[in-house]
Amino acid sequence: MWQAEVRVDLDAIRDNVALLRARTTAEVMAVVKGDGYGHGMLPSARAALAGGATWLGVATLDEGLALRRAGIEAPVLAWLHSPGLPLHEGVAAGIDLNAGSLELLDELVTAARRAERTARVHLKIDTGLSRGGATAAEWPALLEAAAKAQVDGEVEIVGVWSHFVSADAPEHESVDHQLAAFADGLAVAEGFGVTPRYRHIANSAATLTRPDAHYDLVRPGIAVYGLSPVAGETFGLRPAMTARARVALTKRVPAGQGVSYGHAYVTERATTLALVPLGYADGVPRAASNSGPIQLGGKRRTIAGRVCMDQVVVDVGDDPIESGDVATLFGPGDDGGPTADDWAEVVGTINYEIVTRFGSTRVPRVYDGDAGVVR
Ligand SMILES: *Cc1c(COP(=O)(O)O)cnc(C)c1O
Repeated sequence: MWQAEVRVDLDAIRDNVALLRARTTAEVMAVVKGDGYGHGMLPSARAALAGGATWLGVATLDEGLALRRAGIEAPVLAWLHSPGLPLHEGVAAGIDLNAGSLELLDELVTAARRAERTARVHLKIDTGLSRGGATAAEWPALLEAAAKAQVDGEVEIVGVWSHFVSADAPEHESVDHQLAAFADGLAVAEGFGVTPRYRHIANSAATLTRPDAHYDLVRPGIAVYGLSPVAGETFGLRPAMTARARVALTKRVPAGQGVSYGHAYVTERATTLALVPLGYADGVPRAASNSGPIQLGGKRRTIAGRVCMDQVVVDVGDDPIESGDVATLFGPGDDGGPTADDWAEVVGTINYEIVTRFGSTRVPRVYDGDAGVVR
């Protein structure tokens, strides 16, 4: 018998990727960083590959190495590296690595020598996000050094890439500015003889709304897990994660009873309280105190009082809720139940953060479906 669980629908992940694939002629890199946005990196990666992704994207070298250790052979790009990491292990494992600065390119050349293997690199141009990547001013020097290293056989320039500021607002003028800057960067690259097989800039939102940004490869993350990057539109995606728990106990209390720490909620009348065993240690945002939605007994209810580390309380009125009943915090929303979007709205964050919070916790992750399951 279970107490609380995060269920992940692998078939939904597969189908979401298939849907994304059908919207583009580019290849699809499923982004599985952050433990697959909380869904489990390895099962998510396999399900995404089953749906037609041909690439996997991760932030860190360690994430990439974990994919390889698990026997996943698809092309992998890892893009966030502080100095001094064992990048040669990534080169040896055939992981594509980002170079967004001269310093990083130098490290990749050193790593290639140490691994005695050509490093596969993606040169990143900063088109306005001001996060990773070379600025337009730094770009020619990076290209020159990379082109030389390629002639020397130390690196293979597999990709040139960038990342959007606000593709979640498809009409935002920054999208056009960045696409223009990306095209400029590609033209400058060509001047240095750099014509990579993969040019890529599109995240989920651009994959779904901006075909002109697809180039050779798109890099959807959140959409792989069935959540929409654009408010108010689902694009036919199916949320893959459900977080739920079985009521630990119920009790009758009188009117005027304070509930949970600080008595931030006080009952208005005699009522039944249900104790739901999920708290902020499991991913429930404490900011959802007195506001987080929970489906229980076929009705949508609201957390009563503060979210605790391990549990929350729900005021269920006179409804016949019993211990053992299933309380759903969020899921695909089929039965009118709450979604990760609903949680994001009450907490003032984005759906990305809600599902990712429910990742590495003490709550077991249970997988439904068989997409990509290794037997
Ligand atoms: C996280 C990330 C993505 C995926 O973004 P979504 O908005 O989840 O689709 C793509 N590219 C880079 C560089 C990222 O960091």
